[in-house]
Amino acid sequence: MRLALFGGTFDPVHYGHLRLAEEACEAANLERVLFIPAHTSPFRTAERLSAHAHRLQILRLAVQDNPRFEVSDLEIQRGGVSYTIDTVRTLRQHYPNAELFLILGADALQGFTAWREPDAIAQECRLLVGVRPHYDLQATLEQLPESIRRRVQPVPMTPLGVSASDLRQRVRQGRSIRYLTPPNVIEYIQQHRLYLEPE
Ligand code: ATP
Repeated sequence: MRLALFGGTFDPVHYGHLRLAEEACEAANLERVLFIPAHTSPFRTAERLSAHAHRLQILRLAVQDNPRFEVSDLEIQRGGVSYTIDTVRTLRQHYPNAELFLILGADALQGFTAWREPDAIAQECRLLVGVRPHYDLQATLEQLPESIRRRVQPVPMTPLGVSASDLRQRVRQGRSIRYLTPPNVIEYIQQHRLYLEPE
C-alpha cells in the first residue's frame, strides 16, 4: 500500500491542507492519507490548542466524503510532545510492507532538519512537499543535506495562502471564513463557539 502520513496541529483544518493532501494523492498515486493531529507540536509547546476532541472531530468532518482520507488519533492517544519519528515507527509496525510518505508544506520542510531524527524519517518516508505562498521551496531544497533532498518529491499545487491562524483570527473578529474550509467545519466551529477567545 502507498500510505501517507499528514501531521499538523489542524486547529482548524482548512482547504490548504485538503488541497495539499489531494494533490499529493495524485502526484504519488497514494491509496490512503492519514491525517494525524499532534497532541503537542514540539515547536509550539507554549501555545494553547483547541481541545483534542474538537480538532479530531473537525478533521473527521472535513475528510468524511473522501474514501482515501482517514483521521488517526495515534498522536493524541500517545500524549505528550508529538515527534513524527515516533509516529513513523509505530505506523511501520502496523504496516510492515507499506510504502510510506510524509506530506508537508514548504514552511515545514524549511525547519525539517531541526526535527527529531530527520534522517531516519526521510529514510522511512518519501517527503511530499507542497508549495506555500511566501516560502521559497527551491531555496529550501538547496539548503538541505543531500540525504534528505533526494527523498523530496515536490507536489505541484495551486498555491493557497490560507492558514489556520488566519481562520482563527477571522472567527475572533466576527469575520467570514466561508470558502476557506468546508461548510460542515464552519458549522461545527460556530456550534461549539470555537476561536472566540483571545489567544
Ligand atoms: P497555523 O496557521 O496555526 O500555523 P497551519 O495553517 O500552518 O497552522 P498546520 O496544522 O500547522 O496548519 O499545518 C500542517 C501542515 O500543513 C504543515 O506541513 C504545513 O506546512 C501544511 N500547510 C498548512 N497550510 C498550508 C497551505 N495553505 N498550503 C500548503 N501547505 C499547508
